[in-house]
Amino acid sequence: MTYLPALKKTDPQIRDLIIAEERRQWSKIRLIPSENYASSAVLEASGSVLTNIYSEGYPGKRYYEGQQNTDQIETLAMERAQAAFGVDHVNVQPYSGSPANMAVYTAVLQPGDTIMGLALAQGGHLTHGWKVNFSGRLYHSAPYELDPKTERLNYDQIWKLAKEVKPKLIVAGYTAYPRIIEWNRFREICDDVGAIFHADISHITGLILGGVHPSPFPMADTGITTSHKSLRGPRGAMMMCKAQYAQAIDKAIMPGLQGGPHNQTTAAIAVAFKEASLPAFKDYAAQIVKNAKALADQLNTHGFRLISGGTDNHLILFETFKSKGILGRDASRALDRAGMVANCNLVPFDTQTPMNPSGVRIGTPSVTSRGMKEAEMVKIGDWINAVLTNAKDEAVLDRIAGEIAELCESFPCPGMDPLNWAEDGGVPSLNAQKEMVMSH
Ligand SMILES: *Cc1c(COP(=O)(O)O)cnc(C)c1O
Repeated sequence: MTYLPALKKTDPQIRDLIIAEERRQWSKIRLIPSENYASSAVLEASGSVLTNIYSEGYPGKRYYEGQQNTDQIETLAMERAQAAFGVDHVNVQPYSGSPANMAVYTAVLQPGDTIMGLALAQGGHLTHGWKVNFSGRLYHSAPYELDPKTERLNYDQIWKLAKEVKPKLIVAGYTAYPRIIEWNRFREICDDVGAIFHADISHITGLILGGVHPSPFPMADTGITTSHKSLRGPRGAMMMCKAQYAQAIDKAIMPGLQGGPHNQTTAAIAVAFKEASLPAFKDYAAQIVKNAKALADQLNTHGFRLISGGTDNHLILFETFKSKGILGRDASRALDRAGMVANCNLVPFDTQTPMNPSGVRIGTPSVTSRGMKEAEMVKIGDWINAVLTNAKDEAVLDRIAGEIAELCESFPCPGMDPLNWAEDGGVPSLNAQKEMVMSH
């Protein structure tokens, strides 16, 4: 039977690219820590007819008729998220993580107010006060940094800065920080200086719901998370807050920032929370961390310097330049060429440039979704080392790409079935995969 038959008829070019992308995700080891594989159930909800309708407003208070089903869907998503986080209020309408942060700031800050987030170059997000982002242009940004010795958060140092700059809001939660965040320390600091404590848990929501990272709730005043990272849901986001901020954050997203919510995403968020409430999700989250530790150990064995010495969560940031004489961009290119997808990344106090930094960032949510365990992590660590010590040796890269494609055959990706591609030539040959990397 033909796969994606309507697309085949209407737009074969796009269909071919979607299938090529499925095959890419199938035959490579995906190590970008913000990415994952959504389940078939999540994909079904995201691709449903819910995309057809407008629902401006909130359940029971819409500007449009026809909400017999969407009101129930959004209510379920909100109730499930609220119960999972143990918070007073949740809003599931933000289109993604960046607008979610913008809406929270809009709700609780005035332009020109001071905010404190971790500097972008040290693992913070763009929306935490980076100078060219709205958050650094609209607000006065006073970023905190990591401790240069430990490469970890230094809460006393953050406290000292907070006393100096008297921020209206402090953001905790990061995109490239491999350690546990001690939320209670941020609560203490915010209480002392009278700041709002905002937790951005985008990367670690799955770990928090799975019980392997402490939760900032109900301690934090406000929070956001994306739904597509370790939570394994659709592309989307939500805001969480104490009751006193509920009205303000609802108004900030609609009518403040957005029009109609993406109902197909709302439904898929509800599905993701249902999946995350099952016992298997706890095992998943625990395995993400075990896998990250196993991979970190193997990289350590091979002489890579890991930022902060290792990991407590799903991600690893490691030095390639000083460790192996290869810059981050060259390293991530060579890894992709050999079948492992990662991103180059600044390391704390990096002396190189963001376009070609000193390190690489990897993570285990995606490989864990495929059922890979510690034994596979050891292999991945060995392959990373082999690639980065032979980055110019085409024969080595070819051999490893082949070994990886073979391993991937035994670890099916959620949301995909290679039988679908049988008519289109099945999983791509090694040569075709190589073309896909070289031509991009
Ligand atoms: C990914 C991420 C975001 C932004 O999410 P987008 O959906 O890419 O806009 C915000 N904050 C943190 C900490 C993130 O990791």
